[in-house]
Amino acid sequence: MMNSRPTPLIAIHGGAGTIRAGAADAGQEHEYHAALRDILTPPQRLLADGGSALDAVCLAVELLEDCPLFNAGHGAVFTHDETHELDASVMDGATLRAGAVGCVSRVRRPVRAARAVMEHTEHVLLVGAGAEALAERLGLEMVSRDYFSTDARREQLRRALAADQALLDHDAASLVFRSPTAPLDEDRKLGTVGAVALDARGNLAAATSTGGMTNKQPGRIGDSPVIGAGTYADNRTAAVSCTGTGEMFMRVAAAHDICARMAYGGLSLEQAARQVVMEVLPAIGGRGGLIAVDAQGNLSMPFNTEGMYRGFARAGEAPRTAIFG
Ligand code: ASP
Repeated sequence: MMNSRPTPLIAIHGGAGTIRAGAADAGQEHEYHAALRDILTPPQRLLADGGSALDAVCLAVELLEDCPLFNAGHGAVFTHDETHELDASVMDGATLRAGAVGCVSRVRRPVRAARAVMEHTEHVLLVGAGAEALAERLGLEMVSRDYFSTDARREQLRRALAADQALLDHDAASLVFRSPTAPLDEDRKLGTVGAVALDARGNLAAATSTGGMTNKQPGRIGDSPVIGAGTYADNRTAAVSCTGTGEMFMRVAAAHDICARMAYGGLSLEQAARQVVMEVLPAIGGRGGLIAVDAQGNLSMPFNTEGMYRGFARAGEAPRTAIFG
């Protein structure tokens, strides 16, 4: 056999949704493509230089958390009580180690706190004050609770309250963000961000971060920080990061189900991912999509909405980005 080292690969998503009525113009779409490309470049370089898949997905999600176009980190949605509660997770496919945080409201980049849980505790999931205390003790950047607040999100909550609905993340955004800057209809868009990667040693990793749902009940946690639901990584099968109606993704253990179909049923990554997104989730009304990569470098990015902000970059190749089908 010649050199069988895999070509490193990073893939990211910034939420799934429906094409905007009255279609966005090319300039507006360009802004999203440019942001996705900019975010892909540093983790692509990291992987090309021999960095780990774990470092690459954390870096990608931190950049997504900081980018105002995507709803994780700064600009998080409000809960019913006008607070912010952020969820994030990370998983290392080489060791099956995982870390996650739920309901944090003072950690600037929740994915770093998730990694801290994995690396500095014997636990997998810490929530609320306990998670924040760990982050603070380890010197992660803490912010005041209003760091995440924006006027637009506050207005979005007001509208959701008036409609008496708990709205999925960006589902409510177009009630406010009617600016023509979003190619996907903000009324129908889901807003979690995530990343999956394969490194040169053949290791896989996945990470996911979200602000959750507008007007969600305080204390609600979705699929994003639940290992096996919104995030999973196992070198023997795949690394997966999901976005969509979190409760349904939890009910079918969506991310792990893909790995299980590959392991037990011998399905390819593409077959397993498509079954879960196009059959299993719709059967219970689940909407959204996911990104997944396997140890051979196969990539799958299915969604059952009209679009999903997404992109990938293999080492040595130009990043590719897409929004629609
Ligand atoms: N899955 C996320 C949640 O339920 C929402 C999303 O993807 O936008 O919190």
